[in-house]
This record gives sequence, structure tokens and C-alpha cells, in this order.
Amino acid sequence: MLFDDPNLQETIASVLVPVAVPGAYTYKVPAGQSVVPGTIVKVPLGPREVIGAVWDIEPDAAINPKKLKTISRVYDTTPPLDRDLRRFVDWVANWTLGAPGMVVRMVLRSEEALEPEAPIAGVRRIEGAAPDRSTPARQRVLATMEDGFAWTRSGLAHAAGVSASVIDGLIHQNVLEVVSMPAAPPPPKPQIDYATKALTPAQQAAVDGLIETFDKTGGSVCLIDGVTGSGKTEVYFEAIAEALRREKQVLVLLPEIALTEQFLRRFEQRFGVYPAEWHSEITPKNRARVWRGVASGDVRVVIGARSSLFLPFKELGLIVVDEEHDAAFKQDDRVPYSARDMAVVRGHLSKFPVILASATPSVESRVNAELGRYELFELPERATGAAMPDLHVVDMRLSGPERGRWLAPRLVHAIKDTFAAGDQSLLFLNRRGYAPLTLCRTCGHRFQCAHCSAWLVEHRFQKKLVCHHCGHFEKIPDACPACQSADSLVACGPGVERIAEEVSDLFPQARTLVLSSDLPGGPERLKREMKIVEEGGADIIIGTQLVAKGHNFPKLKLVGVIDADLGLAHGDPRAAEKTFQLLAQVTGRAGRVSGGGQGLLQTYNADHPVIRALMSGDKHAFYKAEVDARRVAGLPPFGRLAAVIVSGPDRAFAEGYARALARAAPNDAAVTLLGPAEAALAMVRGRFRFRLLAMAPRQFDLQSYLRTWLGRGPKPTKGLRVQVDIDPQQF
Ligand code: ADP
Ligand code: ZN
Ligand code: ZN
Repeated sequence: MLFDDPNLQETIASVLVPVAVPGAYTYKVPAGQSVVPGTIVKVPLGPREVIGAVWDIEPDAAINPKKLKTISRVYDTTPPLDRDLRRFVDWVANWTLGAPGMVVRMVLRSEEALEPEAPIAGVRRIEGAAPDRSTPARQRVLATMEDGFAWTRSGLAHAAGVSASVIDGLIHQNVLEVVSMPAAPPPPKPQIDYATKALTPAQQAAVDGLIETFDKTGGSVCLIDGVTGSGKTEVYFEAIAEALRREKQVLVLLPEIALTEQFLRRFEQRFGVYPAEWHSEITPKNRARVWRGVASGDVRVVIGARSSLFLPFKELGLIVVDEEHDAAFKQDDRVPYSARDMAVVRGHLSKFPVILASATPSVESRVNAELGRYELFELPERATGAAMPDLHVVDMRLSGPERGRWLAPRLVHAIKDTFAAGDQSLLFLNRRGYAPLTLCRTCGHRFQCAHCSAWLVEHRFQKKLVCHHCGHFEKIPDACPACQSADSLVACGPGVERIAEEVSDLFPQARTLVLSSDLPGGPERLKREMKIVEEGGADIIIGTQLVAKGHNFPKLKLVGVIDADLGLAHGDPRAAEKTFQLLAQVTGRAGRVSGGGQGLLQTYNADHPVIRALMSGDKHAFYKAEVDARRVAGLPPFGRLAAVIVSGPDRAFAEGYARALARAAPNDAAVTLLGPAEAALAMVRGRFRFRLLAMAPRQFDLQSYLRTWLGRGPKPTKGLRVQVDIDPQQF
């Protein structure tokens, strides 16, 4: 060996850097520094420096170290990523066919977290010192400081109810001294038995069963399938208490940030403290604090969006996935992954329990429970004893509204009665904006996005036409851009804003509120409005699918679904399941606490199996039919699916490439290859999209197959992108 000379020997480390390359890069470890797998480092990469993680130490790599760049910084005050987390990163990369560097990038989401937070200035009482003259303000300050701890100057002024000049005066007199104190003290620990509720027998049985699973070596997955309002949250709170008792950290995944506010308050009622939050809306400073706290073990419970799965927990011992059926857990990202499925993997790798909860579980989870892969806990009744809502169909073929109106007379009457009784109504329509399509009455011109194959949606509150796929927007013009006619533009179909307009017309005295994720004011406004609804400050709420997710609105009695058929039209085999879940969830908001809830579903398809299943209340019959259909078609969870999306700026070129890729596919009797076909959204952000679909039996190693295939395919050029989506949501 050329480099056997011990004087030449240097430590070489492979480092995962946040770029989309298949493996790790190698670097020299700076002399006198030591790294281990998992150590976080800064390394030169082309013209810049990036944060990465050491993945392996390669003392005898056959590379001339002289040719290697050197790690520029070792973060030795941050704990190295532990073995379980590293295995998880590798597992996710392997499963999704994503670049491991892009997966590790999700772990290293906060560069700020790697620097210890600088201490800040505080004041403390000098023992025995007294001011020359005692005033009531000064007395209050000294009384506030009785416990001897340090305070920030402004915090102390606020707590004592004095102006900052009083404090400055005491410093000047050497009664208080300026000291340095940590910027953020560690968060208080949850109290395990702070306020336990008396559980119903069904809840208690589920809790007992869940607690037993903590003793299973190898971990387990539990599905809590309980109707809306059955007290699932209370049940998994007790499992959280058990994990805390065992000195483990806990992660709760929620599909929607708008849900966290209510969850935080409930958590506080049960455990006496707030959990840490982790999602896209938290400030960089808090993000850094949570990341550090999770790694040090100071933070015991995190409630977060899917990205929190990649936090560097010191001793994670339980993950709860609430609303586990929700499609928000699987979003198209740089690395498309299902947070629900990856939570199960993380539990499996680290051998701790994972709890999935839903009133309408995914077909996948139901099947896994029925086959005994998951433990099943069912809560068939509401915890408060309240009856489930009465559901009725409003057949729009027989008794629809007049032209230009969207609420059928029967629904209008029900709203009127509910309002008169002082209760809340919720009108649900899964469509943001005012109208999904705008056209010219004179020439038929339709407003389409220039970058996507989608119509522009009118948002009347903001006076804009908006593309819901790329965010492109334009002002609503005064005249038709095609034929120049003035006053010829008409809005076709309803969105929530249009329903709100009709409601204001019909019920001018009622307090109405539109809950939609895209209104100005962002998540803060949404949180405020959710609270208003919860406290009874609104009479009629008009909302998108946002309102279907797990909220507890105690005064809500009536739920009207404006267009129950909206989700059914898709050519997507999951359409029935998704629509069933959405409608069961949204109607399940009615009468949760005190009963007397009612749901009215406006539909043109009163005989559709989804609508019939909802009316009969026989959820199990619906699931059985769905499961049978999936089994026959070999669809998940009975078969495996992967989509390969080819996209590029030139339509013909992208299509040609997709065809060439299809021809390069290895022949394997187990794999059925479909396509290429135009993707459901044929163009997004100016890129044309074609889709190939690979189907295989459950036991088949589809990832290996895809790797071989994509390795053989022609190299994508001219801005082409090939993305793999394992178990796509739409198929
Ligand atoms: P889920 O998560 O199943 O929808 P929640 O846990 O939100 O149900 O509970 C629904 C409502 O029932 C809440 O208002 C909750 O406070 C109440 N609740 C839950 N468990 C009990 C119980 N054991 N006794 C009384 N009320 C309960
Ligand atoms: Zn026109
Ligand atoms: Zn667009």
C-alpha cells in the first residue's frame, strides 16, 4: 500500500452533505480533532461550506489523503447523531430512493442549534445590601427577588410592576448586581399525574392494553380506532404519561398546524406544562432551542409536523400519529415519504411503541390491524355519552337550491333553527376562494394558469385570480382579455367565499366566519379564529377541509356539506376512501360534547356507496368493501406501488424520455409497468409531467428493482427530472 507509512496516515471520514447525490463525500479529519459516526461537521463543498454529518470513519480508504479537503469545523458540543437515528436516515433513503444527504438535511434543519446560545445579562440581589431609601416601588422589586434567582431587567420590572429606572437605581446603589444568565432556562418537566381524568371503561381498557405494549421487546404498533369524540386523545395522553414515567421522550405528530393550539391547551390541562412545538411556523430561535432541547433531553414532549420525525431525540420512547389517515402526512417533498409509515419504521428500529389514532383509519392501517400486524383498540362510543350525529342526505336532484344559490332549502331551514337555538352551524366545502372557474360569457374564454394545467381560482376578498398549484396570481381584469367585452366575466361554481356571501345574504344578523388556510393573516389568524369558534364567538362557520381535522367545537350542532360529491369524481382509486374519511370526520364535529348533532349532505349521488355507508353508519361494511376491492386489484396494502415522475420544460422531450425509460425497464414477471401517461396535473410550474407506475406483489423488493431500472435508463438531460414516489397517494 502506498499510504502505509504511519506518518502519512490521517483519519478519513465519509460525510453526508445536504445535496442530492447517491452517497457520502470523503474528507480529512483535522489533526488533533476526533470524530465518530454521527458527529456534526462543517465541510467545504465547491465554493461554499455546508453542514453535514460524519457517517463513517474510513481509516484505510484507498484514497490519497492529499487529494481530500479537510473538515473545516467539528461541532463537538453537539451530541453526535445516535446509531438509531443514523439507521433511520439510511432506512428512509433506501426506502424512498432519496439521496441520503437530502434525508440527513431534514435532521440538520437548524444550523443555529449547533451554536450554544449566548448568555444574556440579568440582575441579582447582592446579599445583605439595602437601598439608602426604601420606596414602595423598591420594596416591590426586592420582594419579587426574595427567592434569590437572577432576573432579566425587563422581566423583573414587569413582574414587580415598576419602571426599568427603579431597577437601574438599585443597580447604581449596589443593591442589585448585573450577572450573566442562560438565555433560556430548560423547560419545566411535564407532571405525570397532574390532572388525570376519570376514564370510561372503554377508554380504560384501551389504556391498559397500550401500557402493556410498553413491555413488549421489539416495540409494537397500536391502532386506536374510535369514533369522533370517543376520547382517543385522553387515551393516548395516558400512554404518553407511561412513556414519561419510563423516562422516555415522546413525539406527537399532527397533520395540521391549525390543530396545535387546541392540542397545546389540552396537553397543559393534563400535564401542567406546554409541550415543545416543531413545524414550519416556529421562529428560528425557538427552532434552535427545541432542537437543542430534544438532543440534550431537556425537552420531553414534542408536538409537531411530519418533519419532527427527524429530530435528534436523546431517548425517544413513543410516537403518536393522530389523524393517521390524513393525506397531509404524505406530501410531495424533495424526498416524498409518508410520515405515518416512517413513524412506524422509527419505532421498529428503536423498538418502542407507535400509536396511530383515527376515527377513520386508512385502509392500510385497518388491514394491518386485522391481520394482527398492529394491535387494535376500538372505542365505539363517544366518551361523554353524547349520541353520534343524525345524518341525512339532501338529494339535489329533487330539492336543490334555485339558480345561482348553493344552499338547498332544507339546509337553510336547519341553519335557521340552529341559529335560533343559539347553537353553531358549520358549512363545509373543500374549495378555497370564491369560484373555481372564471369565464367570459361573450367569447367563452377561460382563465387558466400560464404555468400549470389548471384554472385560476377567483379570490374575491383579495381581488385576485390565483393558481392553487404554483401560487401565480393576477388582478381580476375589468374586461375579457380575449374579446375585450366589458362586464362579461362570470364566476362558475362555488368556493367557500361564495358560500359566505350567500350566508350573509340569508342571515345578516348571524356572526359568520370563513376558515380557510389561504386568507390573509396566516396561521396566527387561523389559530385566533379556531379559538373564537371553540368559545362560541361565531354562529355560522364556513370552512375548507381544515375544519374536518380533529377539532373540538363544543357548541357545534349542525354540519352542512355543500358538495358531498366533490371528492368522488376523481379517477383515483383512493377517492372513495378519502371522501368517506373526510365526510365522516367533518360531520363528526357536530354535537361532540352534548349530543344532538345533525349532518346534512348535499349530493347528486344519493345512491353512491360512500354516501350510503355514511347514512347507514356502518363503517365496517364500507371498509370491508374497500379492502376487498384493493385485494382483488392487488393495490396497497396487498400490493406495492411506485410512481416514477418524469418532468421537464419541453413537453415532447419529457415524453420521449419517459418512453425511453419505460423501454429500459428490466423484465420481471412480478412487475406490472403502466405508462408513461400524462400525470393528473399535466403541467406544474412550467414543467410537463409524465408518469410511469410500477406495481408488484407485497413480498417483492420493488426498491431494488427500481434502482436497477433507473440505473439502466438513459441519463436525464436538458432540465429533465426523474422523481420516485413510493406508495403514491394518487394512483
Ligand atoms: P377524540 O380524540 O376521540 O375525538 P377527545 O379526546 O377529543 O376525542 O374527546 C372528546 C370530548 O370528550 C372532549 O371534550 C373530552 O374532553 C371529552 N372526554 C374525553 N374523555 C372523557 C371522559 N372520560 N369523561 C368525560 N369527558 C371526556
Ligand atoms: Zn371574452
Ligand atoms: Zn400555476
